[in-house]
Amino acid sequence: MRLSQMLFVTLRDDPADAEIPSHKLLLRAGYIRRIGSGIYAYLPLMWRVLQKVSQIVREEMNATGAQECLLPQLQPSELWKESGRWDTYTKAEGIMFSLIDRREQQLGLGPTHEEVITAIARDMICSYRQLPIHLYQLQTKFRDEIRPRFGLMRGREFIMKDGYSFHVDEESLKKTYQDMYTAYSNMLRRAGLAFRPVEADSGAIGGSGSTEFMVLAEAGEDEVLYTDDGKYAANVEKAVSLPADAEPSKFTTFEKRETPGTETIEKVTQLLQASPTQVVKNVLYQTIYDNGLTVLVLVIIRGDQEVNEVKLQNELTKLAANYGAKAIISLTVPSAENQQTWTAKSLPLGYIAPDIADDYIAVNKQIHPKFVRFVDKTVVDLKNFITGANEAGYHVVGANWGEQFTLPETVVDVRKARPGDRAVHDSTQLLKSARGIEVGHIFQLGTKYSQALGATYTNEQGEEKPLVMGCYGVGVSRLAQSAVEQSYDKDGIIWPVAIAPYHAIVTIPNINDTQQVEIAQKLYTELNQSGIETLLDDRNERAGVKFKDADLIGIPYRIVTGRAITNGKVEVVERATRQSQEIPIDEIITTLKQWIKAAIENKN
Ligand code: ATP
Ligand code: MG
Repeated sequence: MRLSQMLFVTLRDDPADAEIPSHKLLLRAGYIRRIGSGIYAYLPLMWRVLQKVSQIVREEMNATGAQECLLPQLQPSELWKESGRWDTYTKAEGIMFSLIDRREQQLGLGPTHEEVITAIARDMICSYRQLPIHLYQLQTKFRDEIRPRFGLMRGREFIMKDGYSFHVDEESLKKTYQDMYTAYSNMLRRAGLAFRPVEADSGAIGGSGSTEFMVLAEAGEDEVLYTDDGKYAANVEKAVSLPADAEPSKFTTFEKRETPGTETIEKVTQLLQASPTQVVKNVLYQTIYDNGLTVLVLVIIRGDQEVNEVKLQNELTKLAANYGAKAIISLTVPSAENQQTWTAKSLPLGYIAPDIADDYIAVNKQIHPKFVRFVDKTVVDLKNFITGANEAGYHVVGANWGEQFTLPETVVDVRKARPGDRAVHDSTQLLKSARGIEVGHIFQLGTKYSQALGATYTNEQGEEKPLVMGCYGVGVSRLAQSAVEQSYDKDGIIWPVAIAPYHAIVTIPNINDTQQVEIAQKLYTELNQSGIETLLDDRNERAGVKFKDADLIGIPYRIVTGRAITNGKVEVVERATRQSQEIPIDEIITTLKQWIKAAIENKN
């Protein structure tokens, strides 16, 4: 492609609305254009990058035996009602765009395709002989994200590869899951990214099987906790660790103490000269289920620990059926205003004990009359602890389970693991923290959707069983941008060779010099003919401007038909290293071919 004929517009300055380097650079270099909030046009250079990423994804998927298809983006609401997700997705979470057609039918724009694919499986799969099977697609997804940001990183319209596999049993699912783990690792390595697979939260479905593929970058929205021995890495949402040991308590007799103005752990431990590890902290949450029921939750956890709200939400989702609900709509620490909606009398905030009476909850059909009391593992073995006295301005000290307090039944792990904690697999390893961009997520779904939609098969014994499912997603557009986030310098983008829009750019320093122009055009034609994807900068611009632009758009090799041509040579500059050398014109093709091959194979 000739730059003189391209829609090629670069910006000198950083656009005001871009925060992170990759977003700024893609806008400045003319790869993308913002059309609306979270809505972007992929301009020709970007589209080439996206196609290269897609091709790598396809090759790795096909190699596992998965088959490509294309599912509809317009999805009837009935399907989502069958799975029970219509209300959560359109109302509670509000992530799904929905519309009403001229026949008054409700439709949604696909944020994901479990419902559609499960409906297909229900119709088309009947026997174990057809299994396992894995279908995938590359397609635009729509999600009405609360906070679209960072360009393609979190768009409302973005490209995803999503795949869904069907199996007779868990064992078969695990095999495909392993294949996907390998395929995803291959994709990211081939795309030239530094990444880390991490254990991920699987939501309330639970199970062992969910891995996120994190591209390591400071701008990442996710926190990863890992150990240096390489044996543990998890999203902080899911991470586990050993808490520090509790210090022995000096309060050996039970007493109520006046502790005015000590609503926080810090204040009470200061006043009592005690360690936060000796405190039983009682944290109040308010949750609303999808049937409108409000449930009050007391999390009883050690004073030095924090609550992991993702873990807490999973525990509460497990209880949904007990309340005639399916899912949670919200989970919050209730504000003073919120409390007024459900309290019967004023709460001793900051002084609550594990046995706070249920009659603080107002009598109301929409409110569950009892606190759900979750005991975090960290408090089970505490002795002679400090906790609230259920009276403002007072704590108790020297308390014990089985004496002054009954240990509530439900013991859970809802503690937030933190950097510096000891690892569970080896207590000499300490957890470290890194930021990551989630570019892929593989997931053992089990029978959640097949059961909801009645997608079954007949096994060898002639019994009807629900299909066992897995799902596997890659954010193609997010992945492309995260490559930039990992690879740029002050002058612009440095594309990994495998996904660069072009391999090379031939720059003519002076288009009034006919010899420069002739050699450049010949090289440009021959390079393209030999399979080296090449741009020609034949614009009537100063050489400095052209070099700047080539650096900004990040093409791996720049070939300059400058002074060296008098010696039958051209200057070749490698974008990543800035190394420059003069190479005889008739050796250019073979040299570049070798370099490109080496750069790509290096990752293979
Ligand atoms: P996130 O936690 O970042 O919102 P998710 O858990 O909603 O992601 P999945 O539903 O698993 O993501 O989707 C699969 C992949 O699609 C993700 O790993 C990510 O790479 C990509 N993706 C998800 N949401 C977006 C978005 N709004 N913009 C761009 N890519 C996205
Ligand atoms: Mg999301």
